[in-house]
Amino acid sequence: MRSLPQVDLIVVELRERAPHALVVHAARCAIDLYRTEISNGSPAPSFDEVVERAEQLLDARRRTDLQPVINATGVLIHTNLGRVPLGKRQLESVTEIARGYSNLEYDLEAGRRGSRYSHASALISTLTGAEAALVVNNNAAAVLLTLAALGTNKEVIISRGELIEIGGEFRMPDVMSMSGTRLVEVGTTNRTHLADYERAIGAETGAILKVHPSNYKVVGFTSEVPTRDLAELARGRGLPFVYDAGSGFIDDGRPASLAPGEPSINQALAEGVDLITFSGDKLLGGPQAGVIAGRSDLLGRVAKHPLLRALRVDKMTLAALEATLIAHLEGSAEELPLWSLAGVSGEELHARARHLAATLSTDDLKAEAIASQAVTGGGSLPGRAFTSWAVALNHAEINADQLQELLRGAAIPVVGRIVDDRLLLDLRSVFPEQVDVLVDLVREALAQKP
Ligand SMILES: *Cc1c(COP(=O)(O)O)cnc(C)c1O
Repeated sequence: MRSLPQVDLIVVELRERAPHALVVHAARCAIDLYRTEISNGSPAPSFDEVVERAEQLLDARRRTDLQPVINATGVLIHTNLGRVPLGKRQLESVTEIARGYSNLEYDLEAGRRGSRYSHASALISTLTGAEAALVVNNNAAAVLLTLAALGTNKEVIISRGELIEIGGEFRMPDVMSMSGTRLVEVGTTNRTHLADYERAIGAETGAILKVHPSNYKVVGFTSEVPTRDLAELARGRGLPFVYDAGSGFIDDGRPASLAPGEPSINQALAEGVDLITFSGDKLLGGPQAGVIAGRSDLLGRVAKHPLLRALRVDKMTLAALEATLIAHLEGSAEELPLWSLAGVSGEELHARARHLAATLSTDDLKAEAIASQAVTGGGSLPGRAFTSWAVALNHAEINADQLQELLRGAAIPVVGRIVDDRLLLDLRSVFPEQVDVLVDLVREALAQKP
């Protein structure tokens, strides 16, 4: 490890090739890659090899349209910015599976065709207490498939307070009609009672659906039916009770700093939900995926539906998801980037913000560390914010919009938040090693000022 060159030495070699920040980033990545390889037993590279690798990374960066950005919005699960970052172990798991062949659909014990859906399901069952589980492309797919398998040509009962739109065209009534089920709305926007559900059940009923209103909150004179009561009603009438929980919060006994009050998957299942669906890339902290967990007889019906093939999950996703689930099982979820970002103390963020502000300040650029409110985002915990610190930027010659535009064009684009004509760089969603990179990026962006 000690023979690995310093970042600066590589940067000197490549400085003509690309903007400074990009070269620094490539040099860091190359060294990190070798560090991993060395710890896996590979021999240390020569200086030239490291330079070459950094150069390759630079070239690769230029070819792809999809590129890393620095998320300085303070929104941890930012759907526009790729939702949840993946950590070292999750990525190693992806690399290991994706670089070669795997037992994706091969049963190693029996020596014949197996099922891709078998992989993460045992881990999900252990973690949530579900009898069985099935992973698909995302939670929208999980809801669509579940409804199609259980309720096509039948009625599905849902509270008027839960007919949500998540954004990006996911509207519950549309998903239900796509699945071939007939929507039966009960109750009112703010209050729905058990009797409303009871009255709506008839010969045509295929399922009762509960949806977590992830991205809004009805406050005031409200009432919803407890999960336990709905489960009992459904069981009494022989109907499946499906719950779209959205955010995928697993209660593994850790202090719920990130998810106070969020419904936990294990608890909902314990309360009698027959099938629950949730995203892999919200509070679970993993890759984009949709999980359906619960009763194995119902999942058997879901697994036989022809739509499953169109919504199927990829091996890279499964690899990252399994690593995510193992982290939760081992009680090391705080190593997942989402949880480690969320876990940084306010004092630490304050110190980083002060340092960044002091480094960035010039005669023209006023940079000030200010207290801020970060949010989880991604349709979880509406109305809840937690402590953060930001650097507020105010330039003598350009306004906040222009400054943001320049930063979007930086070698690594930086996305912040504009408040009162100041550009806020919120450090809650910025990785610690990106703070110094931000300095270079802001300076370079300002050098492009017309
Ligand atoms: C986020 C969310 C969805 C959509 O999940 P994707 O994984 O983005 O497809 C559906 N339902 C609820 C309640 C959600 O919160």
